[in-house]
Amino acid sequence: MALMITDECINCDVCEPECPNQAIALGLEIYQIDPHKCTECVGHFDTPQCVQVCPVACIPADPQHPEDRATLWQKFQRLRATAPT
Ligand code: SF4
Ligand code: SF4
Repeated sequence: MALMITDECINCDVCEPECPNQAIALGLEIYQIDPHKCTECVGHFDTPQCVQVCPVACIPADPQHPEDRATLWQKFQRLRATAPT
């Protein structure tokens, strides 16, 4: 499952540089996660790095994007294949 950022986000900026997939960016009001890029950090880390650093615990799983670990792994492989070198 991709993760999502709720409106409890305080725009502290700490999660954005931690994402190995560059899936986090500042939206109109708060930070947002691109569900097409978030792998729950599968392929890079054992745990979601954004969740680890978020001081207000506002990054739950996104129910709009249910994905099992195998699907997240495939997404990681796709992202890696298309990443700029
Ligand atoms: S879980 Fe990992 S890949 Fe997904 S947004 Fe957070 S840091 Fe990025
Ligand atoms: S770490 Fe949490 S509070 Fe800070 S910008 Fe990211 S989602 Fe928002």
